[in-house]
Amino acid sequence: MASALRCRWSTDLRIAVVGAGIIGACTALALARRGHAVRLIERGQPMRETSSASSKLLHGGLRYLETGHFGLVRKSLLARRAWLEQAPHLCRPLELIIPVYRGQGRPKWILGAGVRLYDWLASGSGFPESRWIPASELKSIRPDLKQEGLLGAYAYHDAQMDDLALGEWVVRQATELGVELETGREIHRLEELDEFDRIVNACGPWAMNLRSQQSGTPAYRLDWVRGSHLIIDRLCPAALFLQVPDEKRIFFVLPYQEKTLVGTTEIRQGFPDNSVVSGEEVDYLLRAINAYISPGVTRAGLVGSFSGVRPLIKSNQNPSAASREWAFERVGKVAHIYGGKWTTAQIQAEESVKWIIQ
Ligand SMILES: Cc1cc2nc3c(=O)[nH]c(=O)nc-3n(C[C@H](O)[C@H](O)[C@H](O)COP(=O)(O)OP(=O)(O)OC[C@H]3O[C@@H](n4cnc5c(N)ncnc54)[C@H](O)[C@@H]3O)c2cc1C
Repeated sequence: MASALRCRWSTDLRIAVVGAGIIGACTALALARRGHAVRLIERGQPMRETSSASSKLLHGGLRYLETGHFGLVRKSLLARRAWLEQAPHLCRPLELIIPVYRGQGRPKWILGAGVRLYDWLASGSGFPESRWIPASELKSIRPDLKQEGLLGAYAYHDAQMDDLALGEWVVRQATELGVELETGREIHRLEELDEFDRIVNACGPWAMNLRSQQSGTPAYRLDWVRGSHLIIDRLCPAALFLQVPDEKRIFFVLPYQEKTLVGTTEIRQGFPDNSVVSGEEVDYLLRAINAYISPGVTRAGLVGSFSGVRPLIKSNQNPSAASREWAFERVGKVAHIYGGKWTTAQIQAEESVKWIIQ
């Protein structure tokens, strides 16, 4: 009884957090704020895996409205505000434009209803409301948009971050609060961490490697979905939210370091490791962007590419429809964290604390 009470209420536990992506870093910070002695253990350097291969958006996820994830969208919309308040030097509001073409893609009324619902879910977060841009005005904003059938565009706001720098900023907040950061150490066996009262598995796509060392069927399964981006050697005068021709999928065209970032793909794979951007993905993204802009982009216009693997839970047949929500599982003194999004990492970390401490 005495030890159960100690576990439930103690604020001086020794806790190892394995994995210094954004989820591990935010979790370490949340635990340190409660007075625990935390060590954040990373096999490489912090933020060098999935957390710096994102689309760099702090967003509610307009497209998740179609799949009815209103709770997640609302949480994310408030979370993006929190990032902007805490680290305004590393993120900024971003207007995204959704061009509307006659007889092509989602109809105007659906897009209009979507952005208005997004405004409503974002109420109180201080972002400007969506607006309609007539075709004549759009021409001066994005002169390279194909004109045939162009009716105009909806514009709405989200935020854009420097994911690597913002993640490193979180790690600095944590170490300044006393979190010990140990880099270059890969945990192969949970027994290596016997000295700790609690172990947090924040290994992102690799979470199953530690979970599989414990008995019992895992409560969740991860679905590994690679996403790739291309960097085009062109200025991006305005961010675009576009529908892949002949598909329902959305992709983004975003300003990025004085260039243009285009992404992403969704390639389901049977393993967590990140692999290179495939030739098919390059062709797919070039075809998608060239359906909208002129002059088009060729391979010669590319100056880089990167990819990351989404650790998705609640798998579905269609990865685009899969939820980006998160889940926790506690097995003995190990708390496993599955899934999540960059935008909501701080909320997820706060929710994880009770699973870890109890
Ligand atoms: C293509 C793509 C685009 C995305 N775009 C967005 C976006 O725009 N906005 C958004 O909110 N979210 C986005 N996401 C989601 C978001 O990036 C991820 O959900 C998030 O970064 C996952 O963070 P993580 O900490 O769980 O994983 P990671 O960042 O992968 O961190 C896990 C860490 O654990 C370490 N590790 C693994 N095993 C061990 C071990 N045994 N010992 C020690 N260390 C270990 C790894 O080295 C790694 O550093 C995107 C994801 C992808 C793939």
